Amino acid sequence: MEPLPPLREVIARHGLSASKALGQNFLFDEQLLDRIAAIPGDLSGQQVLEIGPGPGGLTRALLRAGAQVTAIEMDRRCLPALAELEAAFPGRLEVIQGDALKLDHNALMHSEPYSVVANLPYNVGTELFTRWLSGETWPRRWTSLTLMFQEEVARRIVAAPGTSAYGRLSVLAQWRSTARLAMKVHRSAFTPPPKVMSAVVHVVPTAMPDGVSATTLSQVTEAAFGQRRKMLRQSLKGLAGATGALDELGIDPQRRAETLSVDEFVAIARALSV
Ligand code: SAM
Repeated sequence: MEPLPPLREVIARHGLSASKALGQNFLFDEQLLDRIAAIPGDLSGQQVLEIGPGPGGLTRALLRAGAQVTAIEMDRRCLPALAELEAAFPGRLEVIQGDALKLDHNALMHSEPYSVVANLPYNVGTELFTRWLSGETWPRRWTSLTLMFQEEVARRIVAAPGTSAYGRLSVLAQWRSTARLAMKVHRSAFTPPPKVMSAVVHVVPTAMPDGVSATTLSQVTEAAFGQRRKMLRQSLKGLAGATGALDELGIDPQRRAETLSVDEFVAIARALSV
């Protein structure tokens, strides 16, 4: 196979100046991109859904790792650069132009299960992350999520109880998945560099605890962390049955949300789910 042209050259040739509105901060370091593509494990012959390929740096790394890639990109300007990659890896890459927030991802994938890999703007990444991890159906058709976030958000996702970063995102990511901070990425690795550091999070689904509604758990964490400085007695007051559930479970109503383990949140939600 012909060696691929350097990413900087591809960007210059296609006039892909980074758009602030689309949250574009590109990665050019191929070794770094290969390390990110290695986080989900051996991808050879595996289906991967990539969101936001941009000029295709991470896409190249996924293809080099042997993946079969379906990529959703919103920015039409990136399509010619991605078409060159499609030609370099025949039958291995399909690019779909559109807004990943509006598309049915499962319907786009040719087979399953699949891994999700993405380096997205903060707002889109967090919204998709919440959607991927919400809902009553579990496990999903994806086998892992490998996602770049601002480091501060990544730390919230993997946070342990008793820390200031622990909150709704932590419970969402940990009650039926394992979530780990797989790699820190310095802001200088991006062009243009963002204001803050980034980190890649890797999430793998585990068994869903019995008898718990995801919606109820979401309501409990929303109430509890919505007033995280308040005691549970106060913050959960609006949830019917919550005070009784705390009593029944032996959870001191004077505790604050950030002291509760993920299992304790699950237990409260289970008591309210019946
Ligand atoms: N993956 C490339 C890399 O790592 O260098 C580009 C990353 S850049 C941070 C984010 C990419 O997501 C951009 O190409 C942007 O156009 C795209 N994007 C932003 N919002 C999107 C959306 N709602 N749906 C699909 N792609 C989106």
